[in-house]
Amino acid sequence: MSIRRTGRCHCGDVTVEIDAEDMFSFSCHCTDCMKLVSGGRLLGVGVPKDKVKITGETKIYAYPGGSGELIYLHFCPNCSTQIAATPDSGDGTMVVRANVLDDAAGFKPGMHIHTDSAFAWDLTHQD
Ligand SMILES: [Zn+2]
Ligand SMILES: [Zn+2]
Repeated sequence: MSIRRTGRCHCGDVTVEIDAEDMFSFSCHCTDCMKLVSGGRLLGVGVPKDKVKITGETKIYAYPGGSGELIYLHFCPNCSTQIAATPDSGDGTMVVRANVLDDAAGFKPGMHIHTDSAFAWDLTHQD
């Protein structure tokens, strides 16, 4: 069984299509994610990379994640919206940003990670 979902960046130059169930989903409150999203948390869904189709030109920003492994972050060079990221290990996983999906309103993270650095006023990770 698979679920086909679509999404797009803010300006619409980049679109994304997923044809798979989520393997995992999360809300990350680490300081890297807070800075990169200019907000309180990153919302991501982990899916098989070969089931993700990104259309339109993206720019890639590579940075070391928590384990030191490089993470390749794809974003729209026009409007800066993050689309997805892949780890350097090439384990076949791609983490698509839940907030770019058309059905983002129905998203609920399966886990909250790095809650120790979450904003003190942000209590949604405690439910
Ligand atoms: Zn864009
Ligand atoms: Zn993070």
